[in-house]
Amino acid sequence: MSIASNIQEINRTLTPESKLIAVSKLQSPESIMQAYEAGQRRFGESRAQEMTAKHKVLPDDIEWHFIGHLQRNKVKYIIPFVSLIQSVDSPALLEEINKSAEKTSRLVPCLLQVHIAREKSKFGFTPDELKQFMQEGSWKKLGHVRLHGLMGMATFTDNMDQVRQEFRLLRHLFEEIRSGYFSKDESFKELSMGMTGDYQIALQEGSTMVRIGTALFGVREKGE
Ligand SMILES: *Cc1c(COP(=O)(O)O)cnc(C)c1O
Repeated sequence: MSIASNIQEINRTLTPESKLIAVSKLQSPESIMQAYEAGQRRFGESRAQEMTAKHKVLPDDIEWHFIGHLQRNKVKYIIPFVSLIQSVDSPALLEEINKSAEKTSRLVPCLLQVHIAREKSKFGFTPDELKQFMQEGSWKKLGHVRLHGLMGMATFTDNMDQVRQEFRLLRHLFEEIRSGYFSKDESFKELSMGMTGDYQIALQEGSTMVRIGTALFGVREKGE
Protein backbone atom coordinates (compact mmCIF):
# COMPACT_ATOMS: atom_id res chain seq x y z
CA MET A 1 0.00 0.00 0.00
CA SER A 2 1.23 3.51 -0.75
CA ILE A 3 1.35 6.38 1.74
CA ALA A 4 -1.36 8.16 -0.28
CA SER A 5 -3.73 5.21 -0.16
CA ASN A 6 -3.06 4.69 3.56
CA ILE A 7 -4.07 8.30 4.18
CA GLN A 8 -7.24 7.87 2.14
CA GLU A 9 -8.07 4.74 4.05
CA ILE A 10 -7.58 6.39 7.46
CA ASN A 11 -9.48 9.53 6.43
CA ARG A 12 -12.45 7.35 5.51
CA THR A 13 -12.70 6.13 9.11
CA LEU A 14 -12.49 9.59 10.73
CA THR A 15 -15.53 11.19 12.32
CA PRO A 16 -16.54 14.76 11.34
CA GLU A 17 -15.07 15.98 14.67
CA SER A 18 -11.71 14.30 14.26
CA LYS A 19 -8.43 15.08 12.50
CA LEU A 20 -5.49 12.96 11.44
CA ILE A 21 -2.05 13.83 12.77
CA ALA A 22 0.52 11.98 10.65
CA VAL A 23 3.27 10.89 13.04
CA SER A 24 6.41 11.39 10.98
CA LYS A 25 9.12 10.82 13.62
CA LEU A 26 12.06 8.98 12.08
CA GLN A 27 10.53 9.34 8.60
CA SER A 28 12.48 11.08 5.85
CA PRO A 29 11.46 14.42 4.32
CA GLU A 30 10.77 12.43 1.10
CA SER A 31 8.20 10.25 2.86
CA ILE A 32 6.64 13.31 4.46
CA MET A 33 6.38 14.91 1.00
CA GLN A 34 4.48 11.88 -0.27
CA ALA A 35 1.94 12.39 2.50
CA TYR A 36 1.91 16.13 1.81
CA GLU A 37 1.18 15.56 -1.87
CA ALA A 38 -1.72 13.36 -0.85
CA GLY A 39 -3.15 16.39 0.99
CA GLN A 40 -1.89 15.75 4.52
CA ARG A 41 -0.88 18.97 6.36
CA ARG A 42 -0.67 18.03 10.06
CA PHE A 43 2.43 16.17 11.17
CA GLY A 44 3.55 14.99 14.61
CA GLU A 45 7.17 14.80 15.75
CA SER A 46 8.67 13.72 19.05
CA ARG A 47 12.15 15.30 18.99
CA ALA A 48 12.79 19.03 18.93
CA GLN A 49 15.91 18.85 16.81
CA GLU A 50 14.37 16.54 14.24
CA MET A 51 11.21 18.64 13.96
CA THR A 52 13.22 21.85 13.57
CA ALA A 53 15.38 20.35 10.81
CA LYS A 54 12.31 19.09 8.92
CA HIS A 55 10.50 22.40 9.32
CA LYS A 56 13.42 24.12 7.59
CA VAL A 57 13.30 21.99 4.45
CA LEU A 58 9.57 21.27 4.09
CA PRO A 59 6.64 23.47 2.93
CA ASP A 60 5.56 26.38 5.12
CA ASP A 61 1.91 25.41 5.27
CA ILE A 62 2.65 22.25 7.27
CA GLU A 63 1.21 22.30 10.82
CA TRP A 64 3.83 20.87 13.17
CA HIS A 65 2.56 19.14 16.29
CA PHE A 66 4.99 18.22 19.04
CA ILE A 67 4.02 14.91 20.67
CA GLY A 68 7.06 13.66 22.60
CA HIS A 69 8.69 14.47 25.91
CA LEU A 70 9.96 18.03 25.54
CA GLN A 71 12.99 19.04 27.57
CA ARG A 72 12.81 22.58 28.86
CA ASN A 73 16.11 23.58 27.27
CA LYS A 74 14.74 22.57 23.82
CA VAL A 75 11.55 24.61 24.00
CA LYS A 76 13.04 27.71 22.40
CA TYR A 77 13.90 25.89 19.17
CA ILE A 78 10.33 24.94 18.32
CA ILE A 79 8.41 27.93 19.69
CA PRO A 80 8.73 30.11 16.56
CA PHE A 81 6.88 27.63 14.33
CA VAL A 82 5.09 24.91 16.33
CA SER A 83 1.28 24.71 15.83
CA LEU A 84 0.37 22.67 18.87
CA ILE A 85 2.43 21.21 21.71
CA GLN A 86 0.42 18.11 22.59
CA SER A 87 2.70 16.72 25.27
CA VAL A 88 2.86 19.28 28.07
CA ASP A 89 3.59 16.93 30.95
CA SER A 90 4.44 19.23 33.87
CA PRO A 91 3.65 22.69 35.26
CA ALA A 92 7.33 23.65 34.83
CA LEU A 93 7.24 22.83 31.12
CA LEU A 94 4.11 24.93 30.61
CA GLU A 95 5.84 27.86 32.34
CA GLU A 96 8.91 27.48 30.15
CA ILE A 97 6.75 27.41 27.00
CA ASN A 98 5.00 30.56 28.19
CA LYS A 99 8.29 32.32 28.83
CA SER A 100 9.71 31.40 25.45
CA ALA A 101 6.45 32.28 23.66
CA GLU A 102 6.46 35.70 25.31
CA LYS A 103 9.93 36.42 23.90
CA THR A 104 8.67 35.53 20.42
CA SER A 105 5.35 37.38 20.93
CA ARG A 106 3.43 34.18 20.25
CA LEU A 107 0.37 32.59 21.80
CA VAL A 108 1.18 28.88 21.73
CA PRO A 109 -1.62 26.29 21.76
CA CYS A 110 -0.96 23.39 24.16
CA LEU A 111 -2.54 20.14 25.29
CA LEU A 112 -1.87 18.71 28.73
CA GLN A 113 -0.66 15.12 28.61
CA VAL A 114 -2.38 12.79 31.04
CA HIS A 115 -0.95 9.48 32.17
CA ILE A 116 -3.82 7.01 31.75
CA ALA A 117 -1.92 3.81 30.92
CA ARG A 118 -0.88 1.08 33.35
CA GLU A 119 2.73 1.14 32.22
CA LYS A 120 5.01 3.04 34.51
CA SER A 121 6.02 6.29 32.88
CA LYS A 122 7.67 9.38 34.16
CA PHE A 123 5.68 11.58 31.83
CA GLY A 124 2.23 13.09 32.05
CA PHE A 125 -0.05 14.39 34.79
CA THR A 126 -1.87 11.69 36.71
CA PRO A 127 -5.62 12.37 36.80
CA ASP A 128 -5.26 13.65 40.39
CA GLU A 129 -2.31 15.88 39.55
CA LEU A 130 -4.24 17.29 36.61
CA LYS A 131 -7.25 18.16 38.75
CA GLN A 132 -5.02 19.77 41.37
CA PHE A 133 -3.17 21.76 38.77
CA MET A 134 -6.37 23.10 37.23
CA GLN A 135 -7.80 23.88 40.65
CA GLU A 136 -4.70 25.68 41.87
CA GLY A 137 -5.09 28.09 38.96
CA SER A 138 -1.63 29.52 38.29
CA TRP A 139 -2.02 28.48 34.62
CA LYS A 140 -4.52 31.31 34.20
CA LYS A 141 -1.71 33.83 34.57
CA LEU A 142 0.29 32.42 31.68
CA GLY A 143 -0.66 34.84 28.93
CA HIS A 144 1.31 33.27 26.08
CA VAL A 145 0.00 29.72 26.19
CA ARG A 146 -3.54 28.60 25.57
CA LEU A 147 -4.89 25.26 26.69
CA HIS A 148 -6.72 23.52 23.86
CA GLY A 149 -7.40 20.19 25.53
CA LEU A 150 -5.88 16.90 26.67
CA MET A 151 -3.71 14.17 25.20
CA GLY A 152 -3.13 10.63 26.37
CA MET A 153 -1.83 7.20 25.43
CA ALA A 154 -3.53 3.95 26.39
CA THR A 155 -1.68 0.90 27.69
CA PHE A 156 0.12 -1.09 25.00
CA THR A 157 -1.99 -4.25 25.21
CA ASP A 158 -4.27 -6.55 23.19
CA ASN A 159 -6.94 -6.08 25.82
CA MET A 160 -9.20 -3.66 23.98
CA ASP A 161 -11.63 -3.43 26.90
CA GLN A 162 -8.89 -1.97 29.00
CA VAL A 163 -7.87 0.45 26.24
CA ARG A 164 -11.49 1.58 25.93
CA GLN A 165 -11.73 2.13 29.69
CA GLU A 166 -8.63 4.30 29.63
CA PHE A 167 -9.89 6.41 26.72
CA ARG A 168 -13.20 6.78 28.54
CA LEU A 169 -11.40 7.98 31.66
CA LEU A 170 -9.56 10.57 29.58
CA ARG A 171 -12.77 11.75 27.95
CA HIS A 172 -14.46 12.14 31.32
CA LEU A 173 -11.52 14.18 32.61
CA PHE A 174 -11.70 16.31 29.48
CA GLU A 175 -15.41 16.97 29.94
CA GLU A 176 -15.00 17.70 33.63
CA ILE A 177 -12.26 20.25 32.98
CA ARG A 178 -14.02 21.81 30.04
CA SER A 179 -17.21 22.39 31.99
CA GLY A 180 -15.31 23.46 35.10
CA TYR A 181 -12.89 25.97 33.57
CA PHE A 182 -13.62 26.55 29.89
CA SER A 183 -17.37 26.93 29.60
CA LYS A 184 -16.77 30.34 28.01
CA ASP A 185 -13.66 29.41 26.04
CA GLU A 186 -14.31 27.48 22.86
CA SER A 187 -10.65 26.78 22.20
CA PHE A 188 -10.59 24.00 24.82
CA LYS A 189 -11.95 21.38 22.46
CA GLU A 190 -9.26 18.85 21.58
CA LEU A 191 -9.03 15.32 22.90
CA SER A 192 -5.97 13.74 21.32
CA MET A 193 -6.08 9.96 21.68
CA GLY A 194 -5.56 6.94 19.46
CA MET A 195 -2.55 5.56 17.59
CA THR A 196 -2.16 2.83 14.93
CA GLY A 197 -3.23 -0.01 17.23
CA ASP A 198 -6.20 1.63 18.90
CA TYR A 199 -7.46 4.65 16.96
CA GLN A 200 -10.76 3.02 15.94
CA ILE A 201 -11.63 2.65 19.62
CA ALA A 202 -10.40 6.17 20.38
CA LEU A 203 -12.71 7.56 17.70
CA GLN A 204 -15.66 5.68 19.19
CA GLU A 205 -14.78 7.21 22.55
CA GLY A 206 -14.73 10.78 21.29
CA SER A 207 -11.19 11.47 20.05
CA THR A 208 -10.74 14.67 18.03
CA MET A 209 -7.13 13.92 17.00
CA VAL A 210 -5.67 10.56 16.14
CA ARG A 211 -1.87 10.39 15.97
CA ILE A 212 -0.96 7.73 13.44
CA GLY A 213 2.51 6.71 12.28
CA THR A 214 2.87 3.02 11.46
CA ALA A 215 -0.47 2.57 9.65
CA LEU A 216 0.41 5.50 7.44
CA PHE A 217 4.16 5.30 6.76
CA GLY A 218 4.84 1.63 7.59
CA VAL A 219 7.02 0.28 10.39
CA ARG A 220 9.68 2.69 11.64
CA GLU A 221 13.32 1.62 11.48
CA LYS A 222 13.98 2.39 15.11
CA GLY A 223 11.15 2.07 17.60
CA GLU A 224 10.29 4.73 20.11
C1 LIG B 1 5.03 7.33 17.97
C2 LIG B 1 3.81 7.92 18.56
C3 LIG B 1 2.55 7.78 17.94
C4 LIG B 1 2.32 6.96 16.69
O1 LIG B 1 2.46 5.60 16.92
P1 LIG B 1 2.03 4.50 15.83
O2 LIG B 1 1.77 3.29 16.65
O3 LIG B 1 3.18 4.35 14.90
O4 LIG B 1 0.81 4.98 15.13
C5 LIG B 1 1.48 8.44 18.52
N1 LIG B 1 1.61 9.17 19.64
C6 LIG B 1 2.79 9.33 20.25
C7 LIG B 1 2.85 10.17 21.48
C8 LIG B 1 3.92 8.71 19.74
O5 LIG B 1 5.10 8.85 20.39
